[in-house]
Amino acid sequence: MIQEHFNLRPYNTFGIEVFAKRFAAFSSIEELSHFLQHRDGDELLFLGGGSNVLFTQNFDGFVLRNEIHGIEKVEETDDHVLIKAGAGEVWHDFVLYCVENDFGGIENLSLIPGSVGASPMQNIGAYGVEIKDVFVSLEAYHIESGEVHTFDKDACEFGYRESVFKRKLKNQYVIVSVTYRLSKKHTINSSYGAIENELKVMGVDFPTIKDISKAVIAIRSSKLPNPAEIGNAGSFFKNPVVEKEVLENIQLNYENVPNYPAPNGKVKLAAGWLIDQAGWKGKTFDTYGVHKLQALVLVNYSDTEGSKIFDLSTEIIQDIYQKFGVELEREVNIY
Ligand code: FAD
Ligand code: NAP
Repeated sequence: MIQEHFNLRPYNTFGIEVFAKRFAAFSSIEELSHFLQHRDGDELLFLGGGSNVLFTQNFDGFVLRNEIHGIEKVEETDDHVLIKAGAGEVWHDFVLYCVENDFGGIENLSLIPGSVGASPMQNIGAYGVEIKDVFVSLEAYHIESGEVHTFDKDACEFGYRESVFKRKLKNQYVIVSVTYRLSKKHTINSSYGAIENELKVMGVDFPTIKDISKAVIAIRSSKLPNPAEIGNAGSFFKNPVVEKEVLENIQLNYENVPNYPAPNGKVKLAAGWLIDQAGWKGKTFDTYGVHKLQALVLVNYSDTEGSKIFDLSTEIIQDIYQKFGVELEREVNIY
């Protein structure tokens, strides 16, 4: 059913009240194709869980929410399984399904909000794992031709919080299913961030993938604002990947600036650290601001207009550039 003048507030985790000219949810390719026949030249926006978007104005077009479900084992050997999941599956439920079935590889990505279909969009990542590490292929509906095309890993051109769907194929495809290769013989990845520490608190010496998932859930729950309580879209900015000289310049004033090796001799800086050092952490402007525990996360405490959060992000970008000579890039998709 197509609904008009539709309030998108429940459909974005920032909790911003904006209206779409038209809205519909689809649970199959046939339904998607049917709705697109009624596009009437409207601009389109495909939504999963709305956890990586900021609406700065009403959307004068057709919003289509992906609710294609289904989880299917398509191959199994002694070492691994290939699991194909519908794009509308809730990502964290899919992680729990894998952990419960002892399929390893995505336990470090526990509790990331959103849908399976969006997972390749920005090559979601956390605690040293990215979706590209387990990705096999995806099926995507080509909006112009109505054909379903298959993309393997190379075709997705995954990068750091990037894929071809955020760049040159932007707005051309709707992802309808994703196939992942998961292990039956596990490699436990506990070296990143606070996981080791959390495992100690849990009293676990030899962690299973279930323990890793539990540890990640515990850390995330203690550090990140729950969108059901405080509107947010996770990290608002990407961690910048810069030339070594940029790091050396910062080190002149901040000897201990956190940095990590990146491809091609570059280094990754922690955007949250830069924002914190610049004094933004916890800053609150009436109904919105920078989260008090995590400087990378901008928050909507109640009824804020998305444009105000966008303007705040611009101020932060300018300030970080002035103070550190580093240009932050927004991770969240702006509409
Ligand atoms: P949406 O917000 O609905 O959409 C995001 C973009 O993808 C939009 O441009 C949309 O048009 C497009 N899109 C969505 N689905 C499809 C589809 N099927 N086909 C084509 N285009 C599509 N991200 C991380 O990478 N790591 C984290 O650890 C992480 N932690 C987070 C923590 C919190 C508290 C929050 C709120 C967010 C976090 N995020 C994180 C960001 C977000 O959860 C992910 O980017 C997630 O994959 C977005 O999924 P979604 O379904 O909500 O996408
Ligand atoms: P953290 O552990 O405090 O670390 C701060 C930053 O340093 C992270 O952003 C991380 O980069 C980087 N880092 C830490 N250890 C690293 C290592 N061993 N090698 C390379 N980089 C390292 O981070 P946090 O804020 O609590 O987040 C924990 C994880 O969840 C991170 O992976 C983060 O990306 C993810 N997360 C993502 C979002 C989002 O919306 N995108 C929101 C919340 C959390 P990376 O970010 O590149 O990992």
